[in-house]
Amino acid sequence: MELAGKVAIVTGAAQGIGKAIAKRFASEGAAVVVADVKFEKAGRIADEIKAQGGTAIGAQVDVADKSEVQDMVRAAIEKFEAIHILVNNAGIMRRAPLLELTEEAWDTTINVDLKGVFNCTQAVLPHMIKQRYGKIINISSIAGAGHAGPDLASYAAAKAGVMQLTKVTAREAGQYGINVNSISPGLIATSLGYVDRTKEETEESVEQRKTITLLGRPGMPEDVANLALFLASEDSSFITGQVITIDGGRIDGM
Ligand code: NAD
Repeated sequence: MELAGKVAIVTGAAQGIGKAIAKRFASEGAAVVVADVKFEKAGRIADEIKAQGGTAIGAQVDVADKSEVQDMVRAAIEKFEAIHILVNNAGIMRRAPLLELTEEAWDTTINVDLKGVFNCTQAVLPHMIKQRYGKIINISSIAGAGHAGPDLASYAAAKAGVMQLTKVTAREAGQYGINVNSISPGLIATSLGYVDRTKEETEESVEQRKTITLLGRPGMPEDVANLALFLASEDSSFITGQVITIDGGRIDGM
């Protein structure tokens, strides 16, 4: 058990990549706070973890809302007395050409995808500093560097911000024995990539996934969870401030 005795908050854990991370961490002995804006769904994931012998609670939080984040962290501390691991995974994507991107869509994406990471980190870091131990894992995206996909201005800008926020946080937190890293996934099979897409566009994208990676398959949430486990474990104790790409060798990103 790699994470026995550890407490982890995973945001956006009601589905997709966050759910895979929450379940993987729980299977390695961590007590997991399954935090999501979708409370009922988060509760169901926590119940699934408990049914499999793990420890978990569901928590409702909009990561863009500072006071909701503070309440969620307070509840986690009350329940489990510590937080050792924070996975900033919650994210949304609004797809539109730059000239059609509304101010509302820009603000919402930046607030969830970038400010959400800031809010959760700022709420959790004091507890990690006090205990001189912590692992922070920020989920960015290949859209935030190198691979500049079309129609993703707010998402790409937010994810680029997450990468640099990771490095600055690592710089400030390293002296307290806290590792801060980012995982930058390529296309992973979740519902996120299909927001704002028609059925035909979705089918085309699914087919395309098979040809755009050197490994010839789409990434799965569990692939990302494996890397998150490594970064949350002692096996990565000398790694910090890094952005690690996991994209199956994406051909158009090379
Ligand atoms: P998903 O849409 O399946 O899951 C995202 C989760 O975040 C959902 O459960 C949603 O309810 C939650 N969420 C959304 N807004 C929230 C908020 N304000 N507060 C709390 N929770 C909120 O997406 P996913 O593919 O699992 O994405 C997870 C992360 O991985 C995101 O940060 C995403 O940008 C990143 N990512 C995904 C891919 C991909 O191809 N799927 C690629 C690169 C990066």
